[in-house]
Amino acid sequence: MNGIREGWFSEVNALWPGQCMSLEVEEVLLHEKSPFQDVMMLKTKHHGNALILDGVIQVTESDEFSYHEIGSNVPLNAHPNPEKVLIIGGGDGGMAREVCRNPAVKSVTQCEIDELVVNACKKYLPNLAVGFDDPKMNLIIGDGFDFMGKHKGEFDVIITDSSDPFGPAKVLFEKPYYQLMMEALRPGGIIASQGECLWLHLDLIRDMFKFCREIFPVVDYTTVSVPTYPSGQIGFMLCSLNPETNFRKPVRTFTDEEIETLGLKYYNTEMHAASFVLPHFAKKVLEGK
Ligand code: SAM
Repeated sequence: MNGIREGWFSEVNALWPGQCMSLEVEEVLLHEKSPFQDVMMLKTKHHGNALILDGVIQVTESDEFSYHEIGSNVPLNAHPNPEKVLIIGGGDGGMAREVCRNPAVKSVTQCEIDELVVNACKKYLPNLAVGFDDPKMNLIIGDGFDFMGKHKGEFDVIITDSSDPFGPAKVLFEKPYYQLMMEALRPGGIIASQGECLWLHLDLIRDMFKFCREIFPVVDYTTVSVPTYPSGQIGFMLCSLNPETNFRKPVRTFTDEEIETLGLKYYNTEMHAASFVLPHFAKKVLEGK
C-alpha cells in the first residue's frame, strides 16, 4: 500500500467510492507495517505532517484541531463533573491534548492498540503527541474492545477516537462494544464515539442510532467540518446514561476569554450548538422526521 503517484498521495478506499482526497507530498517521513496496520507519515506541501493508516488520512496538522476540540468538549461540557475520562484509540495524542486541557478533567486513561502509531506521532506530530506528556495521562497499549470488557463502572466520559470501521477498528462501531462502554461508565456517564460521515455513511449511522437507543436513554449526534476527511465532514455518536442530559445545551460553557486562555481554535458556545444542526436529508433518517 502506498497511494503516492507523481508527488500526490490519494486516499482511495471502498468506504468512499468514486472520490478521493489527495495531498501533495514533499517527503515520506516513515512507512512501516505494524502488527495491526500500514503506518505512513507524510510531510505534505500545504497541510503539515499527515498520519495515514492503511491508506486513510487520520490527521493532518492543518485541520486536526476541529475534530479534537468538538470530540472532547461537546461530551465533556455535557457532563456536570467529568473527572475520570477514558480515550480509546487516538494514537496521535490530539484527543488527549484536548481532554487534558479541559479544567474539569482530573485523570485520563487512554488505550491505543498500536505502539508504532504513538511513537511515530511523538516524533513527527509533536503538537498533538504533547497530550501524552500531560501529568493527568495514563497511556496503555492494548486493544480497546478487550480493555472495555475488563472495566466496569469506572469512567465519567468515554471518547472513542477510532479509525474507520475496518481492520482493528471494526469492532468499535458495533453494538457489543457500545454495550461494554455502557457498563464501563459511572452512573450518569457519557460517551462520544467516532461516527463517520453523513454524506457517505448515513446507513451505518442510522444503524448505530438504532442500537444506541436500545442501550442508552439519551442519544444524539454532533458533526464537525474537517477539510481533509472524506467529504470534509465527520460526526460523533453521543450517548448518556443520565436521562436529563441535553447534549445541545452544555452544563458548562466557556467565556470568550476562557476560549482564548485555553487556546481553542474551533470550539465555542455557538459552535457547540451549531454542531447539532443536521441537514434535512440526515434529520429525516436519524430523527425519523
Ligand atoms: N481522528 C481519526 C479518524 O477519525 O480517522 C482517528 C485517529 S486515531 C490515529 C485512530 C486510532 O485508533 C489509531 O491510532 C488506531 O491504531 C486506533 N485503533 C484502531 N482500532 C483500535 C482498537 N481496537 N483498540 C484501540 N485502538 C484502536
